Amino acid sequence: MSGTPDDPARSTRFLADRMLGTLCRYLRFMGYDTVSASGYREGNTREDTLLLKRARGEGRVLLTMDRELAKRAGEDAVLIEDRDVMEQIRVLAGKGLIVPAVRLNRCSLCNTPLRPAREEEISKARHAPRSTPGMEFFWCPQCRKLYWQGSHGKDLEKRIKENVLQD
Ligand SMILES: [Zn+2]
Repeated sequence: MSGTPDDPARSTRFLADRMLGTLCRYLRFMGYDTVSASGYREGNTREDTLLLKRARGEGRVLLTMDRELAKRAGEDAVLIEDRDVMEQIRVLAGKGLIVPAVRLNRCSLCNTPLRPAREEEISKARHAPRSTPGMEFFWCPQCRKLYWQGSHGKDLEKRIKENVLQD
């Protein structure tokens, strides 16, 4: 799957195997609908089949460190070989599957889309920078967690700039 580096790559959906927990979280920070395969046991052919079936059924790209599984999945999977998450992101960007940038529109813990936070949700969060002009707040209705620019993913943004976008 190639294509232009922009639009199609905005909506790629993923299914990440259990070895890729950090990548899973980071993809959510970047706005990508990513589910974790943590419920599936590894190296079990039957479980692999279920995983593959789910990825295909839901139109998700399977991300796996399992060479055998990647082989079976063919075009529906990306074999992740490097353990370094920045290298993993670089691989996905290189394939045109993602445009790396922190978007803060999806909960990194549960994958639920964030919505603009209500006044009372913001006022309850002790460390929220309420007095910063123009600061926008978002809310995960599932985890009841407040997000704002810089609260989460700031380090990731810096690392993406340093490690993925240059070179
Ligand atoms: Zn959540």
